[in-house]
Amino acid sequence: MSEQTFITKNKKETQKIGEEFAKKITNGQILAFFGDLGSGKTTFIQGFSKGLGIKRRIISPTFIIVRKYDINDNNFFHVDLYRVETENDIKSVGLDQIMEDGKSIVAIEWSEKLGKLLPKKRIEIHIDLLENEQRKIRFINYE
Ligand code: ADP
Ligand code: MG
Repeated sequence: MSEQTFITKNKKETQKIGEEFAKKITNGQILAFFGDLGSGKTTFIQGFSKGLGIKRRIISPTFIIVRKYDINDNNFFHVDLYRVETENDIKSVGLDQIMEDGKSIVAIEWSEKLGKLLPKKRIEIHIDLLENEQRKIRFINYE
C-alpha cells in the first residue's frame, strides 16, 4: 500500500492533478473516490479523462449511474453511485462485471456504496474540503 497527498487551491489545480494521474494508469485499474458532495470528485475526473485522451466533455453521470467513454482499444467508465441504494442496483447496471473485466479503467464516485463489492485491488482517492476553496487529495494504492 502506498500513499500520496496533494493540496489544491482551485478547480483547475484539481483537474491538473487528475490529468497527470491519468498518465500513470494502466488498463483494468479501478479508482474508488470518497468525498462529500461538492468536494471535487467529478472535477478531478474531468482532468483525468482529459489525461486519458478523451475529448468529450465529462458531465456528472448522477442520473444514469454509468457513462462509457472510448479510449483507443479500451473503455473508460465514469460511475456515480450517489443514487444507488442496494447491491442489486449495482449489479443491474453491470458494474460488478465492468470491474472484473480486467481491462476497463473505472472511476467510481460514492464508492462507499459498493460495500463488499469494493474490489481489493483498487486506488482510493479521498478528497476533503479545506478552508479557502482548498482541497486535500489523498491517494491510497491497494494492490
Ligand atoms: P463532486 O463530484 O465531489 O460532488 P464537483 O467536482 O461536481 O464535486 O464540484 C466541485 C465544486 O467545487 C465545483 O463547483 C468547483 O468549481 C469547486 N471547487 C472550488 N475549489 C476547488 C478545488 N480546489 N478543487 C476542486 N473543485 C473546487
Ligand atoms: Mg460528482
